[in-house]
Amino acid sequence: MSTNNIVVVGAGVTGLTTALLLSKNPANEVTVIAKHMPGDYDIEYASPWAGASYMPFGKKGSDHAEWERATWPALRDLAENQPESGIHFQDITIQNRLKDQDTATGQWSAELTSANPWFKDFVLNFQNLPSDQLPPGIDNAQKFTSVCINTAIYLPWLVSRCMKNGCVFKRAALKHISEAAEAHHTGSKADVVVNCTGLASRTLGGVVDDQVYPVRGQIMIVRNDPGSMTSISGSDDGGDEVSYIFPRAAGGGTVIGGTYQKNNWDPLPDPNFANRIMQRALKLDPRLVKEGQGVEGLDIVRHGVGLRPARTDGPRIEKDQVNGVKVVHNYGHGGFGYQVSFSCAEKAAGLVNEILQQKDRAKL
Ligand code: FAD
Repeated sequence: MSTNNIVVVGAGVTGLTTALLLSKNPANEVTVIAKHMPGDYDIEYASPWAGASYMPFGKKGSDHAEWERATWPALRDLAENQPESGIHFQDITIQNRLKDQDTATGQWSAELTSANPWFKDFVLNFQNLPSDQLPPGIDNAQKFTSVCINTAIYLPWLVSRCMKNGCVFKRAALKHISEAAEAHHTGSKADVVVNCTGLASRTLGGVVDDQVYPVRGQIMIVRNDPGSMTSISGSDDGGDEVSYIFPRAAGGGTVIGGTYQKNNWDPLPDPNFANRIMQRALKLDPRLVKEGQGVEGLDIVRHGVGLRPARTDGPRIEKDQVNGVKVVHNYGHGGFGYQVSFSCAEKAAGLVNEILQQKDRAKL
C-alpha cells in the first residue's frame, strides 16, 4: 500500500480535528506542526480561551449554518458516549433584546436569538420561553440543551486520539507555509500541507490573507457554578460588550464573558472590562453567587483574553499551490471554531483526498 505524507500546520481545534479525521485512513502518515500546543495559553492561540459552547450563529441557508448543523451530531455523540473528552450536555437560555440588533454583538448573534431559528428542530429540548417568564427588558428568549466543552481537557484528548492513529507532533514556528512540506516526520517531502494557522494566516508567508482579523474576547474563569448556561444579545455597556456564562465539564469551572471587539489586538485583560463582565454576569444569572452577595462572591481562577480568528468572507477551506507545494487551507473560523470543527475538517480532508487521488493517478 502506498502511503501519503501529510503535514498539518496548527494544533488548535481546527488542526487537531483535521489531523484526527485524516489519520483515520491507515494510508495517511500525518505530522502535526505547531508553534503552540495544548497546554499553552498564548494570545496567538485562540482555542484554549473558548467557552466553549454550541450556539449556532450561521445565517439560515449559508455554508456556515450547514457546517454548524453537520458538526452537532459529533459533539452530541462525544457528550453522550465519551465524557472523557471533556464535553458535557448543558441547558442554555438565550436572551434577546431588540435594541441590540444594530450593535456588533447583536448582529453577531442575530440568528441565534431569533424566535424561530433554523436549528430549533435538531438541538435537544428547544423551547421559546413564554412572555410571562421573560426577565425585565428581554424581548424574547429560548432554551435548549447544548454542550459545553472544557477546552483544557478536550484539546489534549484530541492529541491523544491523533497519536493513537499514528500522528506525530512537532513544535516549530514556520515563516512560510511551503516550509511545512520539508518537515514531515519521515524525512520525505509531504504530498500535501494543511494550513490550520488561524489568525496567523494574516501574516504567514505564502498565505498573507488580509481578510483575516481578530475579534478580541476577554473572559474570566470562576469556581462558581450556576448550574446551566446563559447568553444575551448585548449590553448597555457598549455595542461590543456582551454577557455569557458557561459552566464547563469535569471541574473546569465556569467561563464568564465577554467582549466582541473587532480589530482589537490587546492581549492583556483590562480591569475595567473585567469589572463590567462580573457585574453583567451577576445580573444575567444571580445564581452565580450566594443570595445577598455581589461580585465579591465570585471566586476567580484566572482572567484571560483570546483573539477569535475572523475572516471577512468567512472560513477559507480550499486548495492552493504555493511554491510548488500542494496546500489545503482551513482557517478563519471566528467565534465558532468548535461548533463547525468536524464538518470543516471533513471538507478539508475531502480536498486533501482529491489531491492524493491526483498523485495516485499520475503514478499509473
Ligand atoms: P488556533 O486555536 O489559534 O490555532 C492556531 C494554531 O496554529 C496554533 O497551534 C498555532 O501555534 C499554530 N500556528 C500559527 N502560526 C504558526 C506558524 N507560523 N508556525 C507553526 N504553527 C503556527 N468557538 C465555538 O465554537 N464556541 C464558543 O463558545 C467559542 N467561544 C469563544 C470564546 C472566546 C473568548 C474566543 C477567543 C474564541 C471562542 N470561540 C468559540 C472560537 C474558537 O476558539 C476559534 O474559532 C478556534 O479556537 C480557532 O481554532 P484554530 O485551530 O483555527 O486556531
